[in-house]
Amino acid sequence: MIVDDTVGAMLAASLRRGGDRPALRMADAIRTHRELLDHANRFANALRGSGLRPGDPVALMLTDRFESVEAYLGCLIGGFAAVHVNDRWAAREVQAVLADAGARGFVYTDGVGESVSAIDALGDIPAVIAIGEPVAAGHHLWSNFLEAARPVAPDAAGGTDPNDLTIIGYTSGTTGRPKGVVHTQRSLSRTIRHMPVHFEFRPRNRTAFTGTLSFVSGIWGVLLPTLYLGGEVSFMAGLDADEWISRMIQQSSMSTYVPTPLAGDFNEQIHRRPEVLRTLRSVLHSGSQIPPLTLRRTVELIGARMVECYGMTETGAPVTTTEPDDWSADCRADDIYASAGRPMHLADVRIIDRDGAQLPTGETGEISVSSETQFLGYLNDPALTAQTLVDGRIRTGDVGRLDDAGYLYVTDRAKDMILSGGMNVFPAEVESAMVDVPGLQEIAVFGIPHERWGETVVAVAVRTDADLDEAAVIEAARARLASYKKPTSVRFVDALPRTASLKIDKPALRRAWVDLPPEPDKH
Ligand code: ATP
Ligand code: MG
Repeated sequence: MIVDDTVGAMLAASLRRGGDRPALRMADAIRTHRELLDHANRFANALRGSGLRPGDPVALMLTDRFESVEAYLGCLIGGFAAVHVNDRWAAREVQAVLADAGARGFVYTDGVGESVSAIDALGDIPAVIAIGEPVAAGHHLWSNFLEAARPVAPDAAGGTDPNDLTIIGYTSGTTGRPKGVVHTQRSLSRTIRHMPVHFEFRPRNRTAFTGTLSFVSGIWGVLLPTLYLGGEVSFMAGLDADEWISRMIQQSSMSTYVPTPLAGDFNEQIHRRPEVLRTLRSVLHSGSQIPPLTLRRTVELIGARMVECYGMTETGAPVTTTEPDDWSADCRADDIYASAGRPMHLADVRIIDRDGAQLPTGETGEISVSSETQFLGYLNDPALTAQTLVDGRIRTGDVGRLDDAGYLYVTDRAKDMILSGGMNVFPAEVESAMVDVPGLQEIAVFGIPHERWGETVVAVAVRTDADLDEAAVIEAARARLASYKKPTSVRFVDALPRTASLKIDKPALRRAWVDLPPEPDKH
């Protein structure tokens, strides 16, 4: 067997090496590498015992529990295709994905029981397993399901062919329906082995995991590479600020991942307890735009530890990244704080026009990437696959440019671009320009149809100062940007809606816009 190109065998070997060292930490509890392997093997054997064959899809609707990681690893080791089901999805969405993937197994945790009990047609799935309380008769309790199974590697483990399908990871659904992204044994094992080449994953790292298990990229890009190198993953979700920073300091977390909404709190905590910087080696961010000003402030605080990268579920590992030297004065990027760094080893990044022709350096167009860790296609959607994977390259749907020194600037998503009176407006630019407006906590910009202009720019904002009104926000935008980019109307809410990966849910905002009350006129 070619261990290196088959992810289950590769991870099983590294867990065996990890032995009795801690692998996962949650509050005060730990699981060792040996325990993880033992439970993952049992789970894989128990699925076989229920009549599942290697290659069968097993849907996982997981919250942050040790067993969730064990189920995931069990699927990889047993050669089953692990299907990510987001724990925040409603019954109808879960059901659609179970049917789309043709799931033959389904694992859920009691935190999601309510939506699971509303799913019809679970009866057709041969193995339904509950981590925690089962919500229906016929669902196995996790511990019972594992009890009779052997804790050894499954016989003739599946997934021995590098081209076998191993993961179906649904995208964040930021621009519409989540899409099933199919990865193979090869693309996933390369992703895991490739992460330490560019990022500060070292043997026995202690990684603070600030996402949740519903983040596809968090599992592939952070959790699995840490375990692969014999390290330990500490779950940070649900900790309050004090516990969070104490955990970072005491357990010498060396590498972490910060989704954007946490960035403000993150900086505040580091300010408060700077001793954390003695052990923290690296802070990884990806998945959305960090406003340049926020990035600059974070770099001022944590220095060369900051890593900004660009990638998507479809690329497996990220395709561009900043490097520690980039934050020094010698950096040759046009504007490093607006950049997502340069292409990584296994990736090629180009800018193309509408017809797919490559554009010269400096010009803005669609970002096209290829990577040795990229996906195989979208599940059950050959039309979308053909549209996205063209001549072996991914059309990302993101707009950006490359500078002379090879740094990538992600402008925005093509779908989010607003065409107003013949002018292009990129919401991300407007949002970034507004980060320093006093009293404004957050702002989301998008377009709505307009009779005269085609579309007009509007914004939904969260304020910390009740006196900040619509006129003040529009005026702040006008002072910072060309006039045609400023919102023509602003509405205020208590919190912005977010997708399960904590990205701002723009389709939800667009749908809700008509129902948001305008400010009463003060004059
Ligand atoms: P969907 O495809 O369902 O609409 P999604 O694209 O948000 O959801 P992901 O695969 O989680 O799903 O996210 C990838 C996208 O995130 C990229 O295509 C890009 O738009 C954005 N992104 C990732 N990294 C960065 C970055 N460093 N800067 C700006 N945007 C980024
Ligand atoms: Mg996408």
